[in-house]
Amino acid sequence: MRYLILSDMHGNWEAFEAVLAHAGVESFDLALVLGDLVGYGASPNEVVDAVRALPRQVTIRGNHDKVVAGLDSGASFNHAALEAARWTTASLKAENLRHVTELPPGPTVVAPDLAICHGSPLDEDAYVFSEYDAHEIFLRHQPRLTFFGHTHVPSLFSLGPGGIDVQALRGDGSLALEADMRYLLNPGSIGQPRDRDPRAAYMTYDEGAGVVSWWRVAYPIDQAQRRIVEAGLPSILAERLAVGI
Ligand code: ZN
Repeated sequence: MRYLILSDMHGNWEAFEAVLAHAGVESFDLALVLGDLVGYGASPNEVVDAVRALPRQVTIRGNHDKVVAGLDSGASFNHAALEAARWTTASLKAENLRHVTELPPGPTVVAPDLAICHGSPLDEDAYVFSEYDAHEIFLRHQPRLTFFGHTHVPSLFSLGPGGIDVQALRGDGSLALEADMRYLLNPGSIGQPRDRDPRAAYMTYDEGAGVVSWWRVAYPIDQAQRRIVEAGLPSILAERLAVGI
């Protein structure tokens, strides 16, 4: 099985389109979509349409999807995030709003040793940044390999005989998985990277070869920014795309 791992598109169609073209969707057996299809960006319908069109996929919801769907009040959101969520709710076509509303929560076990979640497998809205966060997950969550999103930072936590190792993943790279180790892997964000690299981020997993790869893709940021400004969304949401924060 070859998996394509996509997360945190956040209504950024230009970024998502570039990733889909770079990855070559048809060559994958299954796409794993880790949530936050919408929120922040000005092209929610294009992104939801494209997710719905993925030929083989497992998709779960993110915290922004929940707020846009009215399943969460967004009390924890800052002003710009809440304004974008309200704009997105009003802008989505009825069928796309229904699709976002019906996305299932994670974690979802995709294969016997493979799971996906938005934040943490223990709490879909929790952020996994530290080895302490990872430690609790490794204790209480069984699958050997779990892909998660939410932080918008490409990262890797591994548990082996020597304990937990944490890596921030820069640029493109790959890792051969070790049989006696367990992994939490974050592909980073397609639509709003926050590791000071503005390029869209995604991962692939070749199960047969036992290799996870991470990728960065340049896209026309100025077009995504212009759409945000023209939609009347807070300008900070456009500005941050250029610097990847
Ligand atoms: Zn997100």
